[in-house]
Amino acid sequence: MRLLVVLGTRPEAIKLMPVVTALRADPAVHVEVCATGQHRGLLDQVLAPAGLVPDHDLDLMRPGQSLDSLLAAATEGIGRVLDAARPDRVIVQGDTASALAGALAAFHRQVPVAHVEAGLRSGDPAQPFPEEAYRRTITLLADLHFAPTQGAVDALLAERVDAASVHLTGNTGIDALFALRGSSPGSVVAAVLGNLGARRLLLVTCHRRENIGPPLDAVIEALAALAARGDVAVALPLHPNPAVASRIRARLGALGGVILLPALSYPDFAALMAAASVILTDSGGVQEEAPALGKPVLVLRETTERPEGVAAGTARLVGTDSARIVAETARLLDDPAAHAAMALAHSPYGDGRAARRIAAILAAGAPR
Ligand code: UDP
Repeated sequence: MRLLVVLGTRPEAIKLMPVVTALRADPAVHVEVCATGQHRGLLDQVLAPAGLVPDHDLDLMRPGQSLDSLLAAATEGIGRVLDAARPDRVIVQGDTASALAGALAAFHRQVPVAHVEAGLRSGDPAQPFPEEAYRRTITLLADLHFAPTQGAVDALLAERVDAASVHLTGNTGIDALFALRGSSPGSVVAAVLGNLGARRLLLVTCHRRENIGPPLDAVIEALAALAARGDVAVALPLHPNPAVASRIRARLGALGGVILLPALSYPDFAALMAAASVILTDSGGVQEEAPALGKPVLVLRETTERPEGVAAGTARLVGTDSARIVAETARLLDDPAAHAAMALAHSPYGDGRAARRIAAILAAGAPR
């Protein structure tokens, strides 16, 4: 059986690497990887250390690229790869333009599509934008749906997706996180951790498209106020999106107590998560990883498609209001009982065996 795995961004690479590894362990399966290059540098940062060289590299990223042109270029590029590679099935993950383009190009050729991390729903097409609409569309195009949680299974069934095509697997991101156990950080992160002294670490990531503008500015003001407390270090690895990075650099770049970092390798970022007292993020993947590490996570969004962490008490939606972010973070810093109540290690998103389950289901279709 020939499979083509399509990926384009950092989280897709992180979450699909365990799947590629599990599939490659089966001699009856031939796997090729097509990278769109949607996040050029970030993708390389994940793939290279893992020794994963894409079989097809479309290198599509252009400065200031619109969603239209990205989607069009990715669909055409993946289509050409499909015509040459002629896989029996395409595998996409999550909700990016690359994933939608992969599903669409496969659909146009009547090649079946498997969707990893299927069934996440915020219920609001504006948040996250454009991902909520992209993942709903992928559901329509896919015939195999690997849902990370029971909630995701339920969401798919509520949309009348054929129950026989939906599989509860766990999230492969937790496989990737658990695979890092025991690895040590590189020199930049080791220096950050070595210089903390008595300060506690607030780890922040912020890059969502729908937050750009006043919501991002409000988050930035909250971070400035928290840094001014003097008893914390605010570490913020920057996503290369220039609209976000330049805004953050301009306001926080010279501020004491703020450590702006380049986008970090996954092992380095995981080391910072493990050392953090509180994590503030608008990222999807970080919302899944923080509970598995027993870290309180404040979500800089109004809605989430990952309610399991909120239900379990390790994640809290705080939105993008400055005063609320400062108050919620201060509560966790100043009230040990409030911190302890959120710092329970549990993993509602997976047990580290999702990729093996997915590979077994896919390989069941392979001729023996
Ligand atoms: N991450 C990373 N380096 C960083 C920041 C995040 O490797 O400097 C990882 C993080 O652990 C998670 C993923 O990247 O696995 C999240 O990516 P992102 O926030 O870009 O996307 P989202 O999860 O929102 O789709």
